Amino acid sequence: MPAVVTYWAEHAWLPHPGGPAVRPEVLITAGPDGRITAVVPDSGPCPAGAVRLAGLALPGQANAHSHAFHRALRSTVQVGSGTFWTWRDTMYQVAAALDPDRYLALATAVYAEMALAGITAVGEFHYLHHAPGGARYADPNAMGAALVEAAARAGIRITLLDTCYLSSGFGAAPAGPQLRFSDGDADAWAERAAALAGAEHARIGAAVHSVRAVPAGQLDTVAQWAADRGAPLHVHLSEQPAENDACLAAHGVTPTRLLADHGVLGPRTSAVHATHLTDRDVRLLGGSTTTVCMCPTTERDLADGIGPARQLAAAGCPITLGSDSHAVIDPFEEARALELDERLRTRTRGHWTAAELLRAGTADGHASLGWPEAGRLEAGALADFCVLALDTVRTAGAPPGLGAETAVFAAGAADVRHLVVGGRHVVADGVHRLVPETGRALAAAVGALR
Ligand SMILES: [Zn+2]
Repeated sequence: MPAVVTYWAEHAWLPHPGGPAVRPEVLITAGPDGRITAVVPDSGPCPAGAVRLAGLALPGQANAHSHAFHRALRSTVQVGSGTFWTWRDTMYQVAAALDPDRYLALATAVYAEMALAGITAVGEFHYLHHAPGGARYADPNAMGAALVEAAARAGIRITLLDTCYLSSGFGAAPAGPQLRFSDGDADAWAERAAALAGAEHARIGAAVHSVRAVPAGQLDTVAQWAADRGAPLHVHLSEQPAENDACLAAHGVTPTRLLADHGVLGPRTSAVHATHLTDRDVRLLGGSTTTVCMCPTTERDLADGIGPARQLAAAGCPITLGSDSHAVIDPFEEARALELDERLRTRTRGHWTAAELLRAGTADGHASLGWPEAGRLEAGALADFCVLALDTVRTAGAPPGLGAETAVFAAGAADVRHLVVGGRHVVADGVHRLVPETGRALAAAVGALR
């Protein structure tokens, strides 16, 4: 990569004193450290030497919640009916077929798909740690290392949220495929996770799989591990009423209350889903400024329900977005789902502005993954952005000034034309430059698991 790269975007969505706005003819210069050194709107035609980007530049999308291997389930879990729990059985079968090499191939292709969808950073909620039956690999972090390497090969950033998973429900030992997830106890988890190394494109965080999977007495260990490192801490929360019922039966409190009592909530924490909450839960999450990561396309797919995102935001929670099970990978679909699901529930419109939804997918998403210096197109920020075509059948004809509204309410992953990460041009004219045959790579990696 040359020391300095200058891009010229036909339009860009930029921070502005009165609120973000679309500006024309924007020069974005990236320095050798991968950060933006200057953003100049109204700069006139594309100068010689700059890379011309037709369309609308947006900050890179942060996919705040991913389980890369769930991508292998796409469409196969759409046959017949079933529940979240029968879906989980199918997911466990795929998990059983993975080893570090196969996971590297699959995750590389999945992260390349994400890059093509405008995603510059992924939060990988990783719990598939060990070999079948629970045997340790020679490197006990071989699976996590494969994910970090996969992100490098796909040209995007990753926060590896190494996940503590110890039990198969309240008081039940892990069984079958879950043996691959468990380190035995939280101290052993902490010791293994401490050996993980970040990289320029990778940061390490922690996760509590759920209150089902980590006994209450061991939650504090995970929370402390993250606190000691100032690292992000993520947790699945109240996705299913059955989890709430079981937690109430075991502990007499809701999962949210249990997490609060064990130091899990707070500004570095993201609660994922938060679908079935009491009013008191909402106040606990908001009062602690815990981020809530909504995964609407997955929550829809699994018939979870509609989480109270608007209430949570009003209570003080930053909201982020994730594609979770990868039923689809489309950050624009996740963003519009937040508003459209709310419209269906309330039969009124206008709960979220397009700018608020873009912020959830960009600045707030990156902050929740421990990349607070990304998610904005301004000097000093990481030079991570995507460019949406404004001349496709979905986006053509809309006024450029309403680019945010076009992005959120009309565009999709297929409209992403360019992706730049750390100043590097990863997707150019709709083609991934590092994994050019992305569809073929996905087919091969998924096929290898059958
Ligand atoms: Zn999840």
